[in-house]
Amino acid sequence: MALNIGVLGTGMIGQDHIRRLTQVLSGANVVGVSDISLERAQAAAPEDAEVFETPEALISSDKVDAIVICSWGPAHEEQLLACIAAGKPVFCEKPMVTSEAAALKVIAAEVAFGRRLVQVGFMRRFDADYRRLKAVIDSGSLGAPLMYKSVPRNASVPEGLYTSEMPLNDTLVHDADISRWLLNDEVVGVEVRLPRRSTRGGELRDPHIVLLHCASGAIVDVEISVNIAYGYDIRGEVSCEMGVASLPNRPATVISDQYGIRQAIPEDWRERFIEAYDQEFREWIVAAGNGTATGPSAWDGYAATLVGDAALRAVEGGSYEAINMIEKPALYETEIAMAAE
Ligand code: NAP
Repeated sequence: MALNIGVLGTGMIGQDHIRRLTQVLSGANVVGVSDISLERAQAAAPEDAEVFETPEALISSDKVDAIVICSWGPAHEEQLLACIAAGKPVFCEKPMVTSEAAALKVIAAEVAFGRRLVQVGFMRRFDADYRRLKAVIDSGSLGAPLMYKSVPRNASVPEGLYTSEMPLNDTLVHDADISRWLLNDEVVGVEVRLPRRSTRGGELRDPHIVLLHCASGAIVDVEISVNIAYGYDIRGEVSCEMGVASLPNRPATVISDQYGIRQAIPEDWRERFIEAYDQEFREWIVAAGNGTATGPSAWDGYAATLVGDAALRAVEGGSYEAINMIEKPALYETEIAMAAE
């Protein structure tokens, strides 16, 4: 039986996920949508879907089995808590929430419910290249991972809307999550270095070098550039005791012309991770149909939030900022094994 889904937030990624759920994947119907802008919700609603005036009305509707949250970050906490209170599986785009206190509330609610309901939109875990990289590391053939270099690059970001904090509390969450997942490690401290500022972004602080210190002693070097003109380029390389494993250069059409021989670079996240988003939702539809969630959990959302908070403190103070997590509830103990399947 198809899963009946309600989508909260019908902006850029909300519309892309509605397209994915209605035109690409099977096993799901989008039966309801809601957005702070009624017109935007109406424009994005698939035929026969109901446009709800409030997120609460959508979440509590009997028509809706499971929810996809694509609203902006500050709205996620209230919407997630309402989904958990209703006992409905919920896929929430990153960032899960925007503060440590909010992350702890989500975890407490889910633990009290007694079953995983929340899946966070860290789609890199569903990307085939990242999965192959993790399989090599997990096989142990290269020995222990010692260093990881993660390089996220954006061609540009919306002027005025994307602020200097966002490389650290919005973009970095993906690198924090994929580092923890790839290395099977927890981040315990953060440092930030500010290289020469790019003149392309005006007052925007860009680029950043972030060092994530892991519990094992491994160090992750994240080099974030959000305004680098040439395209959306995500790189990763793990140095282990006996070798190095890297993400491949993306296979793409080779163009030969008067400028030389070259490969096209994705314009943005939609193009680079299109298959990862599809796979993320394929697996979520199955889990949500069973009344639960898979892959990145509320615990992972909490961990990424703490990394972002620590990075913001580190950039202000210029020092090492420690991260102290609560004890991991038993509910989340199996998450890494599940996500790696
Ligand atoms: P967007 O285009 O601004 O869309 C967000 C939508 O949610 C807007 O229509 C917004 O309305 C609406 N909204 C705000 N508050 C709401 C509320 N309380 N209830 C219902 N709708 C509400 O942003 P986006 O790029 O789609 O991003 C949405 C979320 O996805 C963000 O958390 C973002 O970080 C995340 N995201 C994740 C990825 C990824 O790689 N996984 C990529 C892109 C975005 P207004 O515009 O009127 O405020």
